[in-house]
Amino acid sequence: MTGQNPVFIPGPTNIPDRLRYAMSIQSMDHRAPDFVELLSPVLADLKKVFKTRTGQVISFPGSGTGGWEAAITNTLSPGDKVLVARFGMFSHRWIDLCQRHNLDVEVIECEWGTGAPADLYGQRLAADKDHQIKAVLVTHNETATGVRSDIGAVRKAMDETDHPAMLYVDCVSSLASMDFRMDEWGVDLAVSGSQKGFMLATGMAIVGVSQKALAACETATCPRCYFDFRDMAGANAKGGYPYTPPLQIMYGLRESLDMLFEEGLDNVFARHYRIAEGVREAVRAWGLRLCAKSPDLYSDTVSAVYVPDGFDSNVLTDHAFDVYGVSFGIGLGEMANRAFRIGHLGSMTDVMALSGIAAIEMAMKDLDYPIEPGAGVAAAQNYYRATARRPQLQAA
Ligand SMILES: *Cc1c(COP(=O)(O)O)cnc(C)c1O
Repeated sequence: MTGQNPVFIPGPTNIPDRLRYAMSIQSMDHRAPDFVELLSPVLADLKKVFKTRTGQVISFPGSGTGGWEAAITNTLSPGDKVLVARFGMFSHRWIDLCQRHNLDVEVIECEWGTGAPADLYGQRLAADKDHQIKAVLVTHNETATGVRSDIGAVRKAMDETDHPAMLYVDCVSSLASMDFRMDEWGVDLAVSGSQKGFMLATGMAIVGVSQKALAACETATCPRCYFDFRDMAGANAKGGYPYTPPLQIMYGLRESLDMLFEEGLDNVFARHYRIAEGVREAVRAWGLRLCAKSPDLYSDTVSAVYVPDGFDSNVLTDHAFDVYGVSFGIGLGEMANRAFRIGHLGSMTDVMALSGIAAIEMAMKDLDYPIEPGAGVAAAQNYYRATARRPQLQAA
């Protein structure tokens, strides 16, 4: 029975009923005067999620990839040099997008499973005496390997070399699930989308833009039209949209922001950490290995898990889907056939996570993986029991 089980892919994520209902609306006129009452507070509240006071949020119909393209084309010109580390499929795809826009891409090759190398970024920037590098690109949460990078450390490396390049961060699979601090980290462009931490349908690219990045639009010459920040910001300032907005998603976003603020962002992050820890306990109990090389890199939104030698992770994820009706992330790029991914972000509880752990465990057992039946579930149960918030006992 498809649709009954939660998905364990790192986007699109499970959509809570409350948000499905919120997105179920009749068409309305986006040129009518009341559209602004929806749009303006949503844009203002999104700033709280990005943690920016000085920046602005610009959204487009699209997905995260459209957000990348918008960030690049609005602020750079063909031939501009950008510095970027490749350590997974998403950082790789961002590099590809830059190359296709004829940017001069300087790539720092890193082993997959590692994170953004702040020291190497610092060295390349220090060597760039005449400031050819216009942009530094970092993937905050590499969804292919389950690695979270330290954006503050990259900013520090940039500051230490006094380099004027702008900082572009892909936070598609981290925003609204793990802590993100646009202003504190001096991020100029922060790219996200509707279908991950915001728990919504796919359809909106959401980009945090600093004043410096907005100013760069005036001189950047990469061709753009649909994704032009100036058209969008100009229309938004008057309470409108330059073309037809994805209204259903906008209504969903209103409700999603309400849900996030009701829970409290810090509680949202703590919930993701706790759920992820339970998953990691299960991986340990199976005797399997995470792609992320060290605990400081562990992502709280997705865990990529190597399968033992001689096994094919695609066979495993296919089996879990065919037999148990549960979707897990497949291995991407270098991780293809070698690792599967458990997405645990957005609308997720410990109990939901347990069902995913149990399902993949059954699939592994069916395929004769050398694991102890129930070991992963038991380990996660123990962790969740030990860390559950229990109601205060009434004094007799
Ligand atoms: C999901 C994701 C994207 C964007 O993908 P879309 O399918 O275009 O939304 C980009 N970067 C990361 C890290 C992601 O997880």
